[in-house]
Amino acid sequence: MDIERENHKLEKRLCREVGRAITDHNMIEEGDRVMVCLSGGKDSYGMLDILLKLQARAPVNFELIAVNLDQKQPGFPEHVLPEYLTKLGVKFHIENQDTYSIVKRVIPEGKTLCSLCSRLRRGILYRVASELGATKIALGHHRDDILQTLLLNMFFGAKLKGMPAKLVSDDGRHVVIRPMAYVPEKDLSRWAEVRQFPIIPCTLCGSQENLQRKQVGNLLREWEQKFPGRVENMFSALQNVVPSHLMDRSLFPFETLRATGVPDADGDKAFDDEPFTAATPTAAPRADADGGNPAPTRTVIPIAADL
Ligand code: SF4
Repeated sequence: MDIERENHKLEKRLCREVGRAITDHNMIEEGDRVMVCLSGGKDSYGMLDILLKLQARAPVNFELIAVNLDQKQPGFPEHVLPEYLTKLGVKFHIENQDTYSIVKRVIPEGKTLCSLCSRLRRGILYRVASELGATKIALGHHRDDILQTLLLNMFFGAKLKGMPAKLVSDDGRHVVIRPMAYVPEKDLSRWAEVRQFPIIPCTLCGSQENLQRKQVGNLLREWEQKFPGRVENMFSALQNVVPSHLMDRSLFPFETLRATGVPDADGDKAFDDEPFTAATPTAAPRADADGGNPAPTRTVIPIAADL
């Protein structure tokens, strides 16, 4: 009974978070045809599953069409997705394109295949979206993917840049959405077990998993365990950007800044360290009403505290 209740709470939470991301970004509108990119991994299965549930009760009408790109990797079980989707009664399209051979031929042995592979995949998926008349392309990236990207961009790209929940594609012709943007990866992993999705392993191409992304993922998981609330705070920070307290001169007119002569209660004290709220590292996890992540217990700690 307990497991059933937990699973029900998880389903409610997933629907709520996906619904919130869709509403916040106006991702899906009346009459949309949403191409749901399905790789056979837990994230995209979870996305399709939750979008189907939301579609059944949404106040707007929209269509879903699942698309898988079969890249002809050796050992790819091509029957798995068609069988699953047929049983589900979902419209789908399998695009067969042997990008695997191209990538293997072009990239020298030992070099990473991913950048060419994803470039080819992107081009194909855009073309398929046009052919299918899709008005939106949905990708299964979740909260932790977004945070990993943010850190990777800071560490290796010298940019404060995450992964957008909604964007216009680089060819300018498509709107790409990430309905799972607010969903923690651990909820998707659990949901994949609950629903017993027929997962297709992603190692078929033989490419090495991106080591840097893996390390950053481990770092976030470690923080989440040691300091409950920290990862949630990082994600919230993406929605609370203060350009006047960064140093991008294209976002804030530092050069023309002048004293206003008008006191501002919310203004900076300039000379004082600002106290800030942070998740208490020792806070015991506590389920919220839906069994979700606890709202972190907050305490004021000095800015120079050992983090
Ligand atoms: S892991 Fe394999 S399939 Fe995925 S992008 Fe890299 S080369 Fe392509």
